[in-house]
Amino acid sequence: MDSAVFTPQAAFTLGELEAKFPPRNLPDGARVTRFGPSPTGFMHIGGLYTSLVSRRVAHQSGGVFYLRIEDTDKKREVEGTVDLIVSSLASYGLSPDEGEIADGQEIGAYGPYRQSARMPIYQSCVRWLLEQGHAYPCFASAEELQALRDEQAKRKVQPGYYGSWAIWRDKTEAEVEAALAAGLPFTVRLRSTGGRDERVTLPDTIRGDLEFPANQTDVVLLKADGMPTYHLAHVVDDHFMRTTDVVRGNEWLASYPMHAQMFALFGWTPPRFAHISPIEKQDSGSRRKLSKRHDPEASVGWYMEAGYPKGAVTEYLLNLIDGRFEDWRVANPGVSHEEFAIELDQMSRSGALFDLAKLDSVSRDVVGAMSAKEIYDAALVWASAHHPDFAVRFAQDAEYSQAILDIERHGERPRKDIVRWEQLPTDIGYFFDDRYAELLGEAQEAFKALQPPAPAGLLTKVAADYDPALDRDQWLEWLRDLGLGFGYAPNAKTFKAAPDQYIGHFGDLAGVLRVVLAARRNTPDLHEMMQVLGKVRVAARLSAAVDW
Ligand code: GLU
Repeated sequence: MDSAVFTPQAAFTLGELEAKFPPRNLPDGARVTRFGPSPTGFMHIGGLYTSLVSRRVAHQSGGVFYLRIEDTDKKREVEGTVDLIVSSLASYGLSPDEGEIADGQEIGAYGPYRQSARMPIYQSCVRWLLEQGHAYPCFASAEELQALRDEQAKRKVQPGYYGSWAIWRDKTEAEVEAALAAGLPFTVRLRSTGGRDERVTLPDTIRGDLEFPANQTDVVLLKADGMPTYHLAHVVDDHFMRTTDVVRGNEWLASYPMHAQMFALFGWTPPRFAHISPIEKQDSGSRRKLSKRHDPEASVGWYMEAGYPKGAVTEYLLNLIDGRFEDWRVANPGVSHEEFAIELDQMSRSGALFDLAKLDSVSRDVVGAMSAKEIYDAALVWASAHHPDFAVRFAQDAEYSQAILDIERHGERPRKDIVRWEQLPTDIGYFFDDRYAELLGEAQEAFKALQPPAPAGLLTKVAADYDPALDRDQWLEWLRDLGLGFGYAPNAKTFKAAPDQYIGHFGDLAGVLRVVLAARRNTPDLHEMMQVLGKVRVAARLSAAVDW
């Protein structure tokens, strides 16, 4: 039978492919890893997780991390996904060393890195398998395959295309010729070598040696449209791209024996395999996979929109990847997370449990350790994409914006109230005059509700006398004295001891100033806040409130 009929694009011998994609020239122990997403319209947080593991494992060892776009299922492909994948990796500092890096631009000598562009390679490999008798064409129709499954269900035997159920496995050449002549569509299937009760033991870097039933299925290698299945593409690509460590989801564990069989039939040394468990979440008492449909946090886009700092997402994922990261972080404050080495064999076998509260707490720490300038730069990038109004305000006076962010960052217990950039427009909006103007209604209402009401003359006096040059102690003394003149006890204790002698205490006085200056009762440190607002703004806001 002429295998060229089944593999029209087969352009190379295996020897030629070996020469075209030679073993990589890397130091001993260097690992070559990859991320192989299918562009189906989504970048799952699990993809970032796998990429982080794979890239770090490669780079720690002086190896290579590449991106391979697995786009052989054209029906499921969604336009724009490749750009989404490429830009998501880039924004989390996970750009590949090889593969697509921007706008269809590809780097690396082991490409093409889009599977749809590798047809001649797959077909060449399939032709070789056909020639060796390791593969055969199958003309079974969808109806025949359905009938097969029904019969297997009826007889309660293992479902699948194998052994005597494999209709085309042992057809004669004449039968194949006749089917071809009739123009029937066909697939090419593996002629599996697994025995009926045979078992195989295969190594897994995370799970150790695993025992499986040997593969008996004559799995489809080339589909009727000539495209490879995942099984063929995986084996061929990971061989010719010289992957040393396949890090992939544990949904592929079941087909591992099939892949191992294919590597053996080709006579290729298989890579090491690390099957990682999916990220799970606790849901009404039980654990389940983070789902694309039900959990917004399954999408990388969700973290971007909320403005979680990139470093926080990365550190959170490192926590999920390796339980030792948390202690490492405590022991190495200020050290870049890049310094933390991932060991595949330390990864959890049972699935990492996703926890948003934990992410928030990691994020507080990460933001807490950033400088005002770093926060400003990252938040401005976020705002430009997700909150243009705020971006304009925020960028107008960079120095002012950074001073706002710098409030309470230098004491013994620097502030930890920022979790994600999304909260900034609300949290610090009042610092900006145009936003403050929008909040005036709220401020007036809160002002009128003050108990005790602000005494006449108080705001004018503070506006006139406020001096931003006063340090905290001087400022406190000044404001306490001033408050005393209006009937505010210098502190709560004094007030409680003699409540009939005062209208309120210092906290009430500070409350008046907060409500007028910030249109809210909760603000950061009042002394620092007033300093950042500056004399002109403080005086203007207080004076304007005299008539409220
Ligand atoms: N395209 C496959 C997937 O998205 C890749 C699996 C692998 O890494 O081998 O599941």
